[in-house]
Formats: sequence, C-alpha cells, structure tokens
Amino acid sequence: MPIPMWRRWFGSKPSAPTLHKNRAAIRVGIPKVLNIWSTHQFWLGFLTALGIRPSNIVFSSDTSEEQYREFGKGWGTVDCCYPVKSISGHYGELLFGQKVKIDLLLSPMIYSLPSFLQGHVIDTLSCPRVMAAPENIKSGFLKERDTFAATGVHYVSPLVSLGEPQLVPGQLYKALRDVLGLDKQETARAVAQGYASLEAFNRKMRAHAREILTWCAREQHPCLLMLGRPYHMDPGIGHEIDVDLQAHGYPVLWIQYFPCDADVLEWLFGAELRAGQIRSPFDISDVWSSSYSSNTNEILWGAKVATRCPWITCVVHLSSYECGMDQPTYTPVQKIVEASGTLYFKFGDLDATKPAGGVKIRVQTIVHYLRKYSQTLIARKLAWLPGPCPLLTASEDSSPQRVEADSGIPARTAVAG
Ligand code: SF4
Repeated sequence: MPIPMWRRWFGSKPSAPTLHKNRAAIRVGIPKVLNIWSTHQFWLGFLTALGIRPSNIVFSSDTSEEQYREFGKGWGTVDCCYPVKSISGHYGELLFGQKVKIDLLLSPMIYSLPSFLQGHVIDTLSCPRVMAAPENIKSGFLKERDTFAATGVHYVSPLVSLGEPQLVPGQLYKALRDVLGLDKQETARAVAQGYASLEAFNRKMRAHAREILTWCAREQHPCLLMLGRPYHMDPGIGHEIDVDLQAHGYPVLWIQYFPCDADVLEWLFGAELRAGQIRSPFDISDVWSSSYSSNTNEILWGAKVATRCPWITCVVHLSSYECGMDQPTYTPVQKIVEASGTLYFKFGDLDATKPAGGVKIRVQTIVHYLRKYSQTLIARKLAWLPGPCPLLTASEDSSPQRVEADSGIPARTAVAG
C-alpha cells in the first residue's frame, strides 16, 4: 500500500549547500544499486542535460565481497536485505576509492518507478526498503562523524516519484537547486531528457530481445526467461546464474526487456482479450489483484508471458534471502509458469556469498531438463497459439498455423497430420 507520509517526510528534505564550481567540472558519483539498475539512463540523461560531462558521472562497480571488505566495513547499518546492506560498500567506494574525487554523491530515494505496466496495474511503487535504503545507509556514514563533510563530498538523496513524471521536476529542483544552482525551467527540460534517454535505452534493449526471440523462432531453439528484480542483474546480487546458463548455449531474456510489440502481444494474449478474460495484454488482475509494487507486477506479468511463449521453455526465478516482497509471489508464479508445462526453477535465498558448488549442480540440472523437454514444450505451445508467428516471415515459418493461414487447412488438422 502506498504510504503518503513518506513523500511528506522525505520529500521535504532541504537542498544540499551550493557547490562553488563550474557545472561542467562537477563530478557526480551514483551508487549502482537497487532500482538504479533499471533507471540509470534517466540519471545520465538528466545530469548531462544540466551540463555535467558524461565522463564526470561515475557509477560504483558491481557489488562484490571485495568491495564490501575494502570500502563498506565499519559503515554498516541494520537491514536484513543484502541488496540494501551491500550499499555501504558502494558509498565507501565512491567516497574513498576514486582516483579523481567526486564532488557530489547522488543517491536517489526512488519512491515509484516507470514501468511498461503503468496504466494497467494499481501502482508502480518501489519496495519500501529500497526506497528508504539511502537514508538507512547514510546513517552509517554519520555514526561517528559526518564522513561526507570530512571527505568534502556533498550528499544528495532526493525523494523522486519516477512513476509520476509530472512530480519529478519539482522534486529534483527542490533537492538540487542550491547545490547545482538550478532554475525550474532547465530542471524540467533535463527531466524530460532523462525520460527520453531511459525510453530510448529500453526500446533498444527490447529490440535486441526481439532479435533473440526471432532467432529462437527461426531455429526452434529454446531460451530462458529470468524473473527477478532489476538489481538481480548485478553479478554480486544475482551471482551470474544467467551467465552460467547462457554458457550452455541457451539465450537468456530478462522480463524487464521482453519485447512489448503489439504483434507479439496480440499473438500471445489476443484470444483472452477478445474473450473478455483480460482488459489488455498487460493486465495482471486475473492473477495478482494487489498490483502496487512495480517490480513484483513485472515478475507476475513475466510468468504469464513465459507460460504462453513457445521458445521460453524455462523460467529461472531469482530472489534475495528473506525477501518479504517476493515471498507471496513464489506459489502464483510457479503455478502460472507450470500451467503450460514450462520448466520453473527458483533460486530463492541469494545472499552475499555465491554457493558456487550448489549453483553449478542446479545449473546442470536445469540444462538436463531443458535438453529433455524443450522441443516437446515448443511444439505444444505453438499448437496452442492462434495464428502465424509474428516473428517470422512466411518463408521462415513452417508452423501449422502458417500452413493454415496460407492454405486454409485448419491448424489442428495440420498438427494431427
Ligand atoms: S530483497 Fe526484497 S524486501 Fe529486500 S529490498 Fe529487495 S525487494 Fe525489498
């Protein structure tokens, strides 16, 4: 449930003091954590539109145990989620691990997220722990003294409702006006540029995912769908399970960048749409009524896509240890995915250490089942789908549906034959 009080508390923090520097020379450090993994292009577009040089925008490294040991130890605060705890290492790296010192540490408190499901779900909020994480981690750096002041770094942590673009210029102006010497109009223009950059990046990633899916369709080759939160793409949080699987020759798609083209969605969801079972291809109310959380909504939608899409023969569901947001999704996601026989595997206790031996055995198990069942699953799901595959041209597509479309002979007859 949204808690409006947070917006009042955190949204009213004063702007940081002024940086007496030419904007082009200001170096900005951004911890590459949590929902920065899905919004980094917004921040790049926004800051460069304000005149900050791209080479002066520094993201911290991927999460790692070494990063925490070297830069995070001693600054920790209490949180049960490793994706949050690990942020101390990112802050420490930005403060103490740069060859050229940063001037500003920008760690946004992202209250809500832009999502392709917006308008089809109740809301697109961040996990509350994710939203409040910068305040939590900051306190570790203020325990004994103000470490930001001691290192000469301005700390700015604007509360920002990226899921409600009309609010964002005001929120970022309020938080950054003094530190960067902003005016309202240029802030609004920079925010628009941020959204344009994010949209362009997402479009490019989806186009690439469509190419992968098209290759799978042409070759009748199975692929995997990763269901997880954006920060499970961080090798130190998701432990590169996707990379290990891909090394066995199975392309990997992430739900955040699944191609949302109208022809693909019509192919997968058109029949249910016309039957009135769903309101749009992005509707998840048939499986998840409490659709407030952006990343959770996308995971549920991903399960629906996976169970329908022929070449996705396996879903790998990633979740961090004791994640309270993910726990209610385990059973519904598994049931949805397995409804069509699609393989489902969950790595549900990801924490700081990669259990390399256990992951290796599980990856080999997944690969075994992929080899054994993928072709049956592809054929079964193709036979269920209504029309010719939109990913293939007529000459590439020899599916029963294409035969039906081209010859007028009903598909089921063609399958039986
Ligand atoms: S692991 Fe789960 S509870 Fe923890 S921050 Fe992430 S989504 Fe929130």
